[in-house]
Amino acid sequence: MKKIAVIGAGTMGSGIAHCFAQYGCEVTLIDYAVAALDRAKNTIDKNLDRQCKKEILTPMQKEEALNRIRFITVLEEGVSNADIVVEAVAEKLEIKQQVFTQLDQLTPAHCILASNTSSISITTLAAATSRPDKVIGMHFMNPVPVMPLVEIIKGHHTSKTTLSTVESLTQFIEKTPLVAADYPGFVANRILLPMINEAITTLHQGVADVYAIDHIMKLGMGHPMGPLRLADFIGLDVCMSILEVMYKGLGNDKYAPCPLLTKMVAAGTLGVKTKRGFYDYSDDPKTPIPCVF
Ligand code: NAD
Repeated sequence: MKKIAVIGAGTMGSGIAHCFAQYGCEVTLIDYAVAALDRAKNTIDKNLDRQCKKEILTPMQKEEALNRIRFITVLEEGVSNADIVVEAVAEKLEIKQQVFTQLDQLTPAHCILASNTSSISITTLAAATSRPDKVIGMHFMNPVPVMPLVEIIKGHHTSKTTLSTVESLTQFIEKTPLVAADYPGFVANRILLPMINEAITTLHQGVADVYAIDHIMKLGMGHPMGPLRLADFIGLDVCMSILEVMYKGLGNDKYAPCPLLTKMVAAGTLGVKTKRGFYDYSDDPKTPIPCVF
């Protein structure tokens, strides 16, 4: 598992490429948007610098890691000799299915096809390929270079060999693999997203403001970040997509996205990536100002 291809150079794809390159793998990072690749290169450069300052890496190791990543716009070129592909494109079933069908045709027969999906069925993605035994979920957490967990999702046909290979690969990059079955939201988001949605509902009903909700959860529960700030960090569009998958897939009203969340997504205020969500990040992204609702 030396040659890794990562599809989608957004928040997650750039972090996943960074981690594999840091541990000596050859990585191709693929996105059809040149601007996304440019942004990813900058982000990876900055995050590697941060690791140098913390003395996790030497400046030479940083340069070597950066040189191991090729930034590519053509899917075929990026995946043709990959041992494993990690897909990290938008959280939309049709988009991911199309990518998996293409990957099945463009990658070598031994190649494992992994998805970083937050909630979409691995078994459904596997059905878009002729190798369902080699399809698996590798759910990295944000920010990828910092977070130690990879939630591994075993699809209905995922083979034991694929599972053990991916567990070993996860340990190789010094992260902990924990396995979940293929049901909507798996474990992490099935528990996290209802909390975030409830925090948004609490705000929507005027029970408390953004600052109070987040600080009650920080100071009272010991959470490192309040749920509204976390929602901004994940991306409100991503939060809404995950809730919709769970609402549909688990058939329970408790997963229905709060109307305030739906409205904010329609308005394009998606959190940190658009500089506005529950907080305003335009002045200082590190100390954003809580918005008034
Ligand atoms: P993002 O919007 O930041 O990035 C997605 C990237 O994929 C974009 O750069 C887009 O140009 C590219 N893309 C879309 N379709 C493509 C295609 N067909 N070929 C090549 N590139 C394509 O999204 P993100 O936040 O990085 O999320 C990516 C995946 O990771 C989603 O499935 C999401 O649910 C999951 N995830 C996100 C988080 C999070 O905190 N944001 C955490 C865990 C998992």
